[in-house]
Amino acid sequence: MDGLHSHPRTMRRVVMARTTAKQTHTWRSIVDTYTKAERNGWAYKTDTKTEFLRDPTVDATVVLRVATALRDKPKAESKKQEGSWRNPFLPYDENLWCCDLSDTHVLLLNKFNVVPHHTLVVTKEFKSQEDPLESTDVEALWATLQCYPSGALAFFNSGPHSGKSQPHKHVQVIPLPLAEGMSQLPFQNLLEQAWIEAANEGEGAHEDGVFFTAKALPFVNFACKLNALMSTSQVHHQYRALLDKTALQVDANPLSYNLLLTTEWMMAVPRRQESAGPVSVNALGFAGTFLLRSEEEISYIRNLGFLAVLQVVGMPWPSSNGK
Ligand code: AMP
Repeated sequence: MDGLHSHPRTMRRVVMARTTAKQTHTWRSIVDTYTKAERNGWAYKTDTKTEFLRDPTVDATVVLRVATALRDKPKAESKKQEGSWRNPFLPYDENLWCCDLSDTHVLLLNKFNVVPHHTLVVTKEFKSQEDPLESTDVEALWATLQCYPSGALAFFNSGPHSGKSQPHKHVQVIPLPLAEGMSQLPFQNLLEQAWIEAANEGEGAHEDGVFFTAKALPFVNFACKLNALMSTSQVHHQYRALLDKTALQVDANPLSYNLLLTTEWMMAVPRRQESAGPVSVNALGFAGTFLLRSEEEISYIRNLGFLAVLQVVGMPWPSSNGK
């Protein structure tokens, strides 16, 4: 048995769900929309060069995507829109429409791509990005996560310090791996170890699954194990449990946090700042990848180290006194 209640041996034991016709259709719609958008200039691909940054203290290597031209794009766009802002998701750009996921959600291509096939799971009606995910949100994002043939990462930036830019509720999905040849996410080993320890100590094992925190990471995080066979309501239930733990850490309303999930695990990270120096961080930072807009940002993260950057924008563990 590889259910939620079994004794964990390794987090990498992936539970496979059979690909359904709907998933195949969703994936084709992403590829078709992306191809047409690229050909016709409906979406903007940011050229990046990939660099790696290792921290031997936790034995993790993160991916730096250096995009020197990015300053001209979303930032210029938002400047232009100052005073005349309009919701980009209502109405959405029909050229970026991939498919309807349900009665309540639509799948759009991200207009400003850093990686191909970057999509947004968007509510059809206006809902606030600061509201918790509902089961209909989870249903739509869980279906999207599973349609990417080589795996995907979904992320949600919620609250003023989370790194979000749009107020209309949307969850983003990018394909894995994060970089060519990278067999797993940068913090995956740390999560796996934390999961095994929690389960062995009997601490994290609850009826609903195994909850754990990766204490080797210097920012507060709450995680749980998922598998591809879980139902929407199980995933939603786990999310609510992580959100409750996260809310206890943040003395602010609205709460700022990032949520990351693959079909194998989910992690919530409370936030206290949007940026560390010039480096602005959204959920992807906690997945182990940073989009850097200038040489200044590159030097900053190389000098301070990515773990310190994440601790500044996340929350330090209480015992570490923020140092
Ligand atoms: P966030 O910054 O987390 O709020 O995510 C908003 C995302 O929407 C960003 O990744 C933008 O690139 C993307 N975006 C902005 N404008 C549009 C648009 N008109 N259509 C589709 N995606 C957009």
